[in-house]
Amino acid sequence: MSSGSYSGVRLFLEGLSGHRGWTRAWKKAAPRSRYRVVIVGGGGHGLATAYYLAAEFGITDVAVIDKGPIGLGNVGRNTTIVRSNYFQPDNVRFYDYSLRLWEGLEHRLNFNAMVSQRGTLNLFHTEAQRDLFTRRANGMRMQSVDAEALGRDAVKALVPLVDLDNGRYPVLGGFLQRRGGTVRHDAVAWGYARAASDAGVDIIENCAVTGIRRDGNGVTGVDTPAGFIGADSVCLAVAGHSSQLAEMAGFRLPMETHVLQAFVTESIKPVLDVVLTYGAGHFYISQSDKGGLVFGGAIDGYNTYAQRGTLPMAEEVAAAGLTLLPALARLKVVRQWGGVMDMSMDGSPIISKTPVERLILNGGWCYGGFKAIPAGGMSTAHLIARGEPHPVAAHLGLDRFANGRTIDERGIGPFPFLH
Ligand SMILES: Cc1cc2nc3c(=O)[nH]c(=O)nc-3n(C[C@H](O)[C@H](O)[C@H](O)COP(=O)(O)OP(=O)(O)OC[C@H]3O[C@@H](n4cnc5c(N)ncnc54)[C@H](O)[C@@H]3O)c2cc1C
Repeated sequence: MSSGSYSGVRLFLEGLSGHRGWTRAWKKAAPRSRYRVVIVGGGGHGLATAYYLAAEFGITDVAVIDKGPIGLGNVGRNTTIVRSNYFQPDNVRFYDYSLRLWEGLEHRLNFNAMVSQRGTLNLFHTEAQRDLFTRRANGMRMQSVDAEALGRDAVKALVPLVDLDNGRYPVLGGFLQRRGGTVRHDAVAWGYARAASDAGVDIIENCAVTGIRRDGNGVTGVDTPAGFIGADSVCLAVAGHSSQLAEMAGFRLPMETHVLQAFVTESIKPVLDVVLTYGAGHFYISQSDKGGLVFGGAIDGYNTYAQRGTLPMAEEVAAAGLTLLPALARLKVVRQWGGVMDMSMDGSPIISKTPVERLILNGGWCYGGFKAIPAGGMSTAHLIARGEPHPVAAHLGLDRFANGRTIDERGIGPFPFLH
């Protein structure tokens, strides 16, 4: 069953017949006893991997299995920011590849994911920060990735609400990546799910993987409440639950699970048309198409699998927000939630083979894996299909932790407590 092509003409014609012609966007599949590839986790990365396996590598004997309905994990809980303004050259290459895939994604998936390249503006507040940001921006430009320096007046012109001279951390300027922006998060899951299902992938919801079976050192399949499902290859794309699934397969990961919160205010008229990040604390904000201001800060800082945050971090985020944008004090927060993050020990993701043969890992996304979904899915599909890393993801192997090649993305040392 295909949901057919979406277009303005079809919308008009369906309107004439009372919108009775729409079918499910993706098929509700029942699990078969065996697949060539089983992907555990129907978040952005699992669904994108399935789609690219089918569309790029011709592998359609694939199941995506999620313990709940798809889209309720981090893919539907994040603050929707996409950008490629990273520091390390390998990371710039990887995230810019992702940004380029976002740029053509809606056309490719025939799905409106509300990709909005409204720009991301990172503010700086000290001369040392200016140097650091200049170095980052120059590194990006050397790879033909856009980055612009803005002075105080240009910042004020772009975001009139910013309090440039706030007593604590006056704003000295900012760096703008115009191609950055936001994407409607859950639509990404739906768009990939629909395209993968149309290509023949089975999407199996409400079916938790409870065990991973091995024959010697090779994976043979997964246990679920619906029975054993055999597979030639298994891919773990479970974000905050990566360590739990690795434990089922008999190995440990250099990862901790933490909670990250997000907040949305009541809807107001347009006041902010870039993504704004505060350089003197961890705070980022954008305005959704419904009018709410969507914002977040740092992780709560203790290990948990609970999808809710604590009041002290909510207060810290609010304090940073009010320092930067005092007008925020006039708004009510109408929703708050948390998502569980798989924090890797160097802050960069892992797309890799594992100690178990034919068991592939896509994880360690920390608080930045939404923007990476297209590149993450493509690279993971490449690794499964070809048995070797995609060129843009070759630096993301799990062996970097054993070999001392960890990625120092923040440029402040390769220690977890520094990022
Ligand atoms: C509050 C918040 C704000 C964020 N903001 C941003 C941002 O602005 N920009 C950005 O780039 N990133 C952001 N992130 C990070 C980003 O959302 C994640 O890194 C990314 O979504 C993780 O990949 P995913 O979509 O595949 O994960 P998920 O959507 O979490 O998918 C994993 C899936 O695995 C399933 N699963 C787990 N265990 C099992 C099991 N045993 N059996 C079967 N299924 C299982 C889960 O149900 C889930 O659906 C944010 C995250 C949060 C929480």
